[in-house]
Amino acid sequence: MSSEWKADQFTRLAALIGHPIDQSPSPIMHNEAFRVSCINAVYLAFDVPPAFLKSVVSGMRAMNALGFNVTIPHKVAALDLLDESDQLVKDVGAVNTVVNQNGTLKGYNTDVVGIIAAFDRNGVSVDGSSALVIGAGGAARACLTALSAKGCKKFHIANRTLHKAKSLAKEFSRKYGIECSAVNQGPKAISEASRSSDIVLNATPVGAYPSVEECVLPRECLRPDLIVFDVVYKPIRTKLIDEASKAGAKVVTGLEMLVEQGAATFKLWTGRDPPRQIMRKAVESVLS
Ligand code: NAP
Repeated sequence: MSSEWKADQFTRLAALIGHPIDQSPSPIMHNEAFRVSCINAVYLAFDVPPAFLKSVVSGMRAMNALGFNVTIPHKVAALDLLDESDQLVKDVGAVNTVVNQNGTLKGYNTDVVGIIAAFDRNGVSVDGSSALVIGAGGAARACLTALSAKGCKKFHIANRTLHKAKSLAKEFSRKYGIECSAVNQGPKAISEASRSSDIVLNATPVGAYPSVEECVLPRECLRPDLIVFDVVYKPIRTKLIDEASKAGAKVVTGLEMLVEQGAATFKLWTGRDPPRQIMRKAVESVLS
C-alpha cells in the first residue's frame, strides 16, 4: 500500500486490547507492516477495563476483525472467551494473539515464539544450560516455556512475591520434568542463583521507563560468560542491558522479542512474510 492508502469499506480491523495501553509501540509497528505489505487493514489500540473484556471480544467477532493482541491484564482472562487455542497457549496458560478464522476466534502465544526467535537470531543457544528467571507473571511463563522448548535443564525462579515463584517452580517441574527452585528477590539470594546460572532473564517491569535507574541484578553478578535477556523494551538499552554489556556478557533486548512476537503475529493474521526490518525501525522510532 502506498502513502496514498485510505481506509475503505473493505478495511479490516486489527487491535490491541489492554488496560492501560498508552505505552504500546504495537500500533506503529503493525500499521507500518500493513502499509508496506499492501494489506488493507488498520491496527488500533483499545483501553479495555476488565469489566468490558467479554463484550469487546464478542465485538471483535461481530465486526469480523482480522484479529487482536491481548496484553496486561487480559492475557489469562481472555482464554475463556475464545473458541480454540493452540497447544502453546495451553502450555503457557496465557494468550497474546487471537486470529479470527471466519468467526472462530483462535488463540496463540507469540511471546514464546518471539523469545525463541530473538535468541536464535542472536546466535544464543540455551541447550543444556541453567537459567535464572526473575518474575513470575505472564512474561516469566513465556520465558520458562521458551527455555524448556530449547533444552534448558535447570531453573531458578525469583520473584518479589515468593509464593508465586514457588507455585510456578512446582508447575514447571511437574510439566516438563525440569529441576526448578524458587528463590526470593533479595540481593543475596539473587546473587547466589545467578552464580550457578548460564543465563539470566528479567521478566519484570523493573528498569522500564520512567524508573530507568532500577536494575534487578546487582552489578557484581554480571560476568562475561553470562547471557542476559531483558523483556523490558522501553528504554531499549535498560540499565541491566547496559551493565551486562559493559561486563562483557552476551545480551538480548526486549526490543528483539517485541519485534519477533509482532512478526509472528503478522504472519498469523496475513499469511505473509513479515517485513521485520520495517517493523523494527518503526518500533525504534517510537522508543527512541
Ligand atoms: P505481570 O504478569 O503483571 O507480571 C509482573 C511480574 O513482575 C510479577 O512477577 C511481579 O511480581 C513483578 N514485578 C512487578 N513490579 C515489580 C517491582 N517493582 N519489583 C519487583 N518485581 C516486580 O506482567 P508481565 O506480562 O509478566 O510483563 C512483565 C514485563 O514484561 C512488562 O514490563 C511488559 O511490558 C514486558 N513484556 C515485554 C514483551 C516484549 O515483547 N518485549 C512482551 C510481554 C511483556 P509480583 O508477583 O510480586 O507482583
